[in-house]
Amino acid sequence: MTQTLYTESELKSVVATLAAAIATDSSGRKLLLLGLLKGCQPFLADLCRELSRYQLSLAVEYLQVSSYVGTASSGQVTINHGLPDSLWRGCDVIVVDDIFDTGLTLKSVVAHLREKGAEKVKTCVLLRKEGSSRVVMEPDYCGAVIPDAFIVGYGLDYNEQYRELPYIKILAEDEQN
Ligand code: 5GP
Ligand code: MG
Repeated sequence: MTQTLYTESELKSVVATLAAAIATDSSGRKLLLLGLLKGCQPFLADLCRELSRYQLSLAVEYLQVSSYVGTASSGQVTINHGLPDSLWRGCDVIVVDDIFDTGLTLKSVVAHLREKGAEKVKTCVLLRKEGSSRVVMEPDYCGAVIPDAFIVGYGLDYNEQYRELPYIKILAEDEQN
């Protein structure tokens, strides 16, 4: 049975609230949104649209990061990008991801960026799972906290399926094969 967790209109209002918080905290420096592919895509696009309501200097780039195999985190985070370190110089960076689960992905990406010379790095996730964190770190911006279940839709996949759904649902056991 399909269990919708967030409808399209609920997601829209969660994203609008996140954009307002980011805009309020803006230092006036250029803001570089660094999306983690592929899951960030619909969220980041909607976040940019909402941020366009504010007078911000905004740039968007992407990192390819992966850690999930099927419905479980492998614990091994692979970061793959050809971005020059000059990209984040003088910018406030916000790493944007779909969901914070164990936290290993965001922790690794933030450490990687700091190592590559980024000064101010914040993190923003649409969702965070309750009780699943394995790191001492909290996302700076978080749209909502959800139960520890495997979800799909709005960019989140199960073996590359379901990313196109405009809503988020819990993946039922009979849909996992
Ligand atoms: P973490 O490193 O925090 O454990 O996991 C973050 C990444 O794992 C997310 O970017 C996302 O790609 C994937 N992930 C974590 N939980 C889920 C989930 O419930 N569903 C899907 N589809 N991906 C998830
Ligand atoms: Mg991801």
